[in-house]
Amino acid sequence: MSRFRSSAGIVAALITLAPIAAVAQFVPPTMELKNVAPDVYTMQHPFGSSNASFVVTADGVLVFDADIRTANQTMAAIRKITDKKIKYVVMSHPSGDHATGVWHFREDKPVFIATRKQMRDLYQQERAEFIERSASPLPQHAGYKGAELVHPDIGFDGALTLQFGGLTFQITEEGSAHSTSDVTLFVPQRRVMMMGDLLNTEIHPGPGESAQVFFSNARNWITLLDRIIARQLPVDTYIPGHGPIHIGRGVADLEEQRRYFIVMRDAVSKMIMAGRSVQQIQKEFVTPKEFAHYRGPQRQTAFINLFYHQLLERGFWP
Ligand SMILES: [Zn+2]
Repeated sequence: MSRFRSSAGIVAALITLAPIAAVAQFVPPTMELKNVAPDVYTMQHPFGSSNASFVVTADGVLVFDADIRTANQTMAAIRKITDKKIKYVVMSHPSGDHATGVWHFREDKPVFIATRKQMRDLYQQERAEFIERSASPLPQHAGYKGAELVHPDIGFDGALTLQFGGLTFQITEEGSAHSTSDVTLFVPQRRVMMMGDLLNTEIHPGPGESAQVFFSNARNWITLLDRIIARQLPVDTYIPGHGPIHIGRGVADLEEQRRYFIVMRDAVSKMIMAGRSVQQIQKEFVTPKEFAHYRGPQRQTAFINLFYHQLLERGFWP
């Protein structure tokens, strides 16, 4: 999740730089429809707003992730492509930018599936954030006005297989790395896997913030990616939670994401060794060359805080 960190940063910049009239004209991110594989579509945002995907079958549509700010665009895209109703909704993790938009699908009465941990987090801190944003006068929270936080219908632990419309949906609770319960969805007949925020392309990973709590854990993230890579799944495209989709790049995207955490943690560790404080590291940090083109510098700054404290908490061993 990124929990709107990037957009919050942009809005903060707008407030600083622009007259009030410009802020009042805040518009939600415009999503771009991508056909990733036959029947598989992603509403993608190239600059960082969360991606959402949907799969069209003869028996209905499955949606993976919904942001209250953009899920109306997902709904409109589905209506253009098919007359089938949304049958299931699955979320990658219980964050504002992935789990709040199910309300836009209410007309279709989909079954909303989540892990039990996701259910708990949704009614705890995510609900607190939702209520806070519903009452907020800030234009970037306008999408929350009058909306309700939809709670899941079915809770599971571990893994769940759905079969409908001739396709198989392997829903896996991978563990806790970006959030408290990160879920992936693999469609073997379409050679795609939806990764949620376990995968970010060309953008720094989010620190997993919700209601001022930061959930991401670098060590767990490396471990989960290791496990997924070790499955050697027949997947052409891993769909990221943030950033552009690299159609056909396959496991190289996961390997790059895994390397990111190792290289970044190593760089932070060297600055700790040199006696730098967390504030100094955040200020002086030079992004390793391999990731220098990544967007979202404010996400990097937030994550340095996690690298720093998680290294001190766990020691310097891997
Ligand atoms: Zn996110």
